[in-house]
Amino acid sequence: MRRTKIISTIGPSSNKFDKILEMAVKGADSFRINFSHGTLEEKKIIIRHIREVSKKVSRMIPVMADLQGPVIRILTKDAVDIRKGKRYRVGYSSGGMWIPNEAFFKGVDRGDILIVDDGRLLFKVDETHKDHIYMKALIDGTLYSNKKVLIKGKEIVDTPLTEKDIRDLEFSLKHNIEYIALSMVRTGDDIKILKEKIEEFGGDPWILAKIENPSGVENISEIAGEADGVIVARGDLGQYYPLERIPSLQQSITYEGNRRGKITVIATQILESMRRNERPTRAEVTDVFKSVEEKVDAIMLTGETAIGRYPVEAVEWASKILEEADTRFNEETIFYNRDFEETLFDKFARGAIYMSHLLEGKIIGYTKRGNTARRLARYRPKSMVYMVTQNEVVASKISLLYGVKAIYEEAGEDYHDILERALSKLRKEGVIKEGDIVIFTVGVRPESTDMLRIEVA
Ligand code: PGA
Ligand code: MN
Repeated sequence: MRRTKIISTIGPSSNKFDKILEMAVKGADSFRINFSHGTLEEKKIIIRHIREVSKKVSRMIPVMADLQGPVIRILTKDAVDIRKGKRYRVGYSSGGMWIPNEAFFKGVDRGDILIVDDGRLLFKVDETHKDHIYMKALIDGTLYSNKKVLIKGKEIVDTPLTEKDIRDLEFSLKHNIEYIALSMVRTGDDIKILKEKIEEFGGDPWILAKIENPSGVENISEIAGEADGVIVARGDLGQYYPLERIPSLQQSITYEGNRRGKITVIATQILESMRRNERPTRAEVTDVFKSVEEKVDAIMLTGETAIGRYPVEAVEWASKILEEADTRFNEETIFYNRDFEETLFDKFARGAIYMSHLLEGKIIGYTKRGNTARRLARYRPKSMVYMVTQNEVVASKISLLYGVKAIYEEAGEDYHDILERALSKLRKEGVIKEGDIVIFTVGVRPESTDMLRIEVA
């Protein structure tokens, strides 16, 4: 069974029920909804589809709401044909081309290079005013509306949560979304601000910080400390840094996340060529394979499944490669080194993993809020860990964790009873057979992992 998980982004290529179902069948463990595009009405339907698909495949499927964050976007009524050398006016208020963002007009200077639509267009700013600028195109191309704008070498400091993000957050919490990803996180305080808003609206999603600019990279330690996980957003990282820096940035971000026992995800241009082709390149296959060596919880498909021609095939390939990699990196040694932050409860979890390796046993754990599941997953178990929980949202959340198979079991008196129910369920499914060694683990006290029991089934 594959232990590294797959997050698949929903977009125009994949927002129909049948596509979502097919992607789930082929191995998508979670779906990401990108709040940079589309209406809330559309998202409502997508969420409904995902919940239905989850029932249909009898698997918990967490949904991720990816908030746009303080991203600058340029708008136009219609697509504009851009000619190299030509001068264009960009205003603050709507009409022609416009960027409705005050921080942008405060931060932009004459001589700045604007990277638009991930580098498909480049402009040089040659005049700035309070509410408009003039810029000269450096290359030919077409400008479509709602494309991202970056100022080369500069980060525009803006509020971490825009008005739109707050609306989108409220909507997401109303729909019980399990994961909130925030774009362009710069500091640990950005995450604190998000948490305060969540508390205000009510809800308990897990928060993933998208690391995609130099501040995010520099402050990775405090960000990873504050969030539930980090996403290496290679798309924007590649705009702020030379491309050859991407592999080492990826390593240090995932290292810091893993060191703290947080969720780690690698995103963007995972199987990029599959936007147009039915098969990935050798290099892409190797990249996905290597992500398992880096011990991430999940990889995230973005454009491949959102706007590509082969969303289902992309998931299928990702699954196939990860499965192969998971069997190759099946060492006895568990994922741990001195640099890792570890509590007493983490040590209980590490002990459970050791025992499962030593005795070739299967772990069945009980988790109330997901803490024990996270503790077990951080050591990257070499076989699936079965985590039973009475909370449906928790069951869904932990389904994104490396090597975790969630069992949602409403009934049960106490943890003894709940574990017994999980055991009989797994027996029925043939996962556990007579004579198998079973390692039970539970947090008896709140927030803990403090019980370990080993039995022969
Ligand atoms: P985006 O984030 O798709 O929201 O830009 C991913 C990335 O930048 O890699
Ligand atoms: Mn991005």
